[in-house]
Amino acid sequence: MSSPLIVGSAIGKRGERVSGFIDILRGFDPETRIPVTIITGADSGPVLALVAGIHGSEPSPIIALQRVRTEIDPARLRGSVILVHIANLPSFTLRTIYRGPWDQKNLNRVFPGRSEGTASDRIAHAITVQVIEQCDYLVDMHSGDGNESLRPYSYWNKLGVDDAVDERAKQMALAFGLDHIVVDRGRPRDRNASIFCSNTAHLRGKPAVTTEAGGVGVPTETAIALNVQGAMGVLQHLEMLPGRRELVEHPFWIEPSEVLTSPETGTWHPEVKADELVTKGALFGRITNYFGETIAEVHAPIDGLVLYVVVSPAMGKGEPLGMIGQTTHAD
Ligand SMILES: [Zn+2]
Repeated sequence: MSSPLIVGSAIGKRGERVSGFIDILRGFDPETRIPVTIITGADSGPVLALVAGIHGSEPSPIIALQRVRTEIDPARLRGSVILVHIANLPSFTLRTIYRGPWDQKNLNRVFPGRSEGTASDRIAHAITVQVIEQCDYLVDMHSGDGNESLRPYSYWNKLGVDDAVDERAKQMALAFGLDHIVVDRGRPRDRNASIFCSNTAHLRGKPAVTTEAGGVGVPTETAIALNVQGAMGVLQHLEMLPGRRELVEHPFWIEPSEVLTSPETGTWHPEVKADELVTKGALFGRITNYFGETIAEVHAPIDGLVLYVVVSPAMGKGEPLGMIGQTTHAD
């Protein structure tokens, strides 16, 4: 019998569900921990990691994994599942958007992390060593952040380093079930500066996707269900659970896409909604000063679909305002 999977204090046990914590020791800033579950199937097989809460104010995937934890029957499972319930507990507990509360770093920009760095670096390092290096496949489950209204979509990391890994990742995105898929060719190829959680796995030969379902800091039943169905669909696709997940038959591939950023600091007044089609040059929104006088207008740089838009007024220069992507149906 192979040795058990160990993640933090959780020690996998054949046919069982075990939860525990990865302890992140105190460093420059306070200690924290990461709640995890290992579900070990009756039969051996691949290891799938499902990660939620890299951004703490994205609760739909977090609540979804609480359900996935009990929905997966270890007796019917082949292989093992690592659930990272809330990767960024400081951000979740202190309700921050984009960045960790202590170091003001975006956890999904510091991978593979450092054991000696600030909290975000240390969390990323622990996830890289304990989760990514021990898994065969990974899904990094996001939603619109606490300030973002979002229509569901996935990112397919078409990295171009290993075509087989890219192809498996594409199939995983289709199995997750969101029918809008951003084709992302711009991720870094340096293993030591992989930046993003899923890219860190992908660069290590483990097919990975990033998903987006939910938004504005509120878990909705619809978004939770998309995340649960997505996770279960990937498990079926990888033949870790019985049943067959139909792959999305007619996906909308999104390319190119652009993240719009704010030219000014002030208050943001969006003029578009998530899932709205806009034409190049259309007014995307306005930035006013704190007195309500317009200081900048932002126009759509391309024709496309609004994938997400910031819907709360606080705005800093250089921060994201939203994302537009061009959809094509051809595959
Ligand atoms: Zn996120």
